[in-house]
Amino acid sequence: MSTLLNFKMNSFFELRRISTYLIYIFALLLLDACHKAEINENMSSAINELQQHNELILQDSVGLNCGTIASEDFLTQRLGIKTYKLSAITDKIFLVHFHIVRKSDGTGGLTTSQVDQVLSNLQMGMEQASICVAEKGRSFINNSTFYSGSPSTNFNNIVTTNRQSDAINIYLLPTEALSFGRAVDIPSNALVLAGSYVLTPVVAHEFGHCLGLFHTHRGTADDGVGGPAQCPELVNGSNSSTCGDYVTDTPADPYQWQGCVYVGTGTDANGQHYSPLTDNTMSYVSPSCLQSFTPLQIARMHTAIDNNSTLQNAMSRITGPDVICTNGTYSVSNLPSGATVTWTTNGGLNISGSNTANPVTVVNTSGSGGAVIAEITTTCGSSSVTKYVLAGTSIVLGIEEMIDLQDSPSGDRFTVLAGIGNYKYTGVLKIKNLNGVPTTYSWSKVSGSTGAPIIGWSAQGNKVTVYSKGVNRYIKLRCTATTSCGSSFSKDYTFYTGFAP
Ligand SMILES: [Zn+2]
Repeated sequence: MSTLLNFKMNSFFELRRISTYLIYIFALLLLDACHKAEINENMSSAINELQQHNELILQDSVGLNCGTIASEDFLTQRLGIKTYKLSAITDKIFLVHFHIVRKSDGTGGLTTSQVDQVLSNLQMGMEQASICVAEKGRSFINNSTFYSGSPSTNFNNIVTTNRQSDAINIYLLPTEALSFGRAVDIPSNALVLAGSYVLTPVVAHEFGHCLGLFHTHRGTADDGVGGPAQCPELVNGSNSSTCGDYVTDTPADPYQWQGCVYVGTGTDANGQHYSPLTDNTMSYVSPSCLQSFTPLQIARMHTAIDNNSTLQNAMSRITGPDVICTNGTYSVSNLPSGATVTWTTNGGLNISGSNTANPVTVVNTSGSGGAVIAEITTTCGSSSVTKYVLAGTSIVLGIEEMIDLQDSPSGDRFTVLAGIGNYKYTGVLKIKNLNGVPTTYSWSKVSGSTGAPIIGWSAQGNKVTVYSKGVNRYIKLRCTATTSCGSSFSKDYTFYTGFAP
């Protein structure tokens, strides 16, 4: 016990000592490449020492140490989103399923009131993020290997047991287990908690990973799971959308904590001293201090949810047609038990009949579309969930693309410019229904120049091509657009070769 306490007191100095040791090894590497074998031995003993350090932190809970590893940053690498908008924040309701791990004979495991406490900690942690968390269900996994073994070693087997696609899965190991917290990926729909972390706000930290958040020290410090610092965030924030955790209102964090106190004295590449947040849920402060998300961390979570169907499947959401003709049926799926729904609409939509039924009938009144809104009341209070609906009856034709055409101010007369191949003049027009409703297009000739040189045309879908070998020719074509609701509208387009209409 006294050894642990001693380590706790000196852990920061220990880290610095180990860092110095690593620098020394690196210098040796440069000086004498012939002693590689010996150096590797030194390096592995230094790594062992670091690993021991991490395990000690896990055991005495000086600070959080979470094992979550992101396979990639899907928001910036796949979607190119580097700044997060507060406008992305809208009420959301997530369902969670608790998996309580017990011994193979069904004994042990968390009590009902302990699971209730995990839910309560999670609700408190996520409330500020406009995210309500409701319980979908709880069930047991009777497996002594999971119960008594290393949560880290068994992680992949645990998170694939009974995993539900319509909830965030929270796997709960006993409080006597080694302290452990890890989300499957960033983002993902499953996490594991064990040991002293189970009944603490660490559940909100791991949930934050599930909803797309990185550690605040990502890229700036090595947390033992993300590899060495790769893109350190500067104190002045100038690179904070492209380095670190990609969230610009979380200050650079070098991950040097004693409990909840920042004890670092180092500086960034500009020589500025760090001033990290001491209560951020995505940092490695002691579990009891994981208390807040920044506004842009919240915006990043909502952006991740809006772009990830796995997360959306775990939410209460409005299902029904994206396009409404005369009327449509809408319902809230994945509704928490005991929740009530009150429906409203805006734009050109109205509710028909009771506005507290689920499902509900929505009527298209003006052809302009609008929003269907479900006010869902749960144990978290009220959350407004919205679905935007297009009216499939209105058609507004616009231009999607023009090639070798110059249009007139009216948008329906075009000069055909330089041609390709055998034709002196060739132009291509693509049109579209600007209101976004699925639409089909058909074309016919209304009138045009007669005799040689001919002016010809061909059409495919929303695209029409006009061609001629001669100047001063014209052709008028009619496009009839028909929506998926059966409404149609016709418009004429006239093309002139080589001269302005
Ligand atoms: Zn973490």
